[in-house]
Amino acid sequence: MKVILNHELATITLLPVETKEFVTLINLLGALKPGDKLCYGGRKDEGEFCAIILRAGGHDEPKIEKHGSITHHFRKCVGGIEFVLRGSTEDDKHAVGYLRDVCYYGSNGFIFLTDRTAEGERALVMTATHCQHCGAQMIDRGRCEWKTCAACADKCDHTYKRGLCHGGSAEMAGMGEFCTKCGCGKLNVKPELPLIRHGESKMVRVDNLY
Ligand SMILES: [Zn+2]
Ligand SMILES: [Zn+2]
Repeated sequence: MKVILNHELATITLLPVETKEFVTLINLLGALKPGDKLCYGGRKDEGEFCAIILRAGGHDEPKIEKHGSITHHFRKCVGGIEFVLRGSTEDDKHAVGYLRDVCYYGSNGFIFLTDRTAEGERALVMTATHCQHCGAQMIDRGRCEWKTCAACADKCDHTYKRGLCHGGSAEMAGMGEFCTKCGCGKLNVKPELPLIRHGESKMVRVDNLY
């Protein structure tokens, strides 16, 4: 898929490139109505890039799994149409990698907005989530994690706390101070060592930290 991220409008536009993607897109547009969720179902590693597994028009169900003496409660998206979002060009693959982080750290999927014609083709338009304060559409990786848009974060009377933070790429992390309401980092605070690798623990992302 060709993936167009519009940060100003906070929209993600998907355009089919390969023949089977045209079929997938028509199926998705037939099944989705505005406001429907495309749930995140994990990533597929493909060399240095990844693809995103999505379930369109499904719904969340509570699930319980037992692993030895540990009982794991979680919600799993079921039903709908499963589809794999894979970038076509290198730029598209970078965009998909970015969107995977948006899903994993913040939105847990996307919200279908509309279909439109872009570059002569039918395209699917979605956003990641809405600001919990003002309802604005959002696709920014760090903001989605806190469901707080930039305008609302600017108005926040920050309440700082020390904790594990990660930078924009989510690859490096360290201890720092962040606002527990909007996620903004304290300005001019450098994270302290040791740094740990992404994936070892659930971290919060902090803007302005680096
Ligand atoms: Zn807002
Ligand atoms: Zn704040």
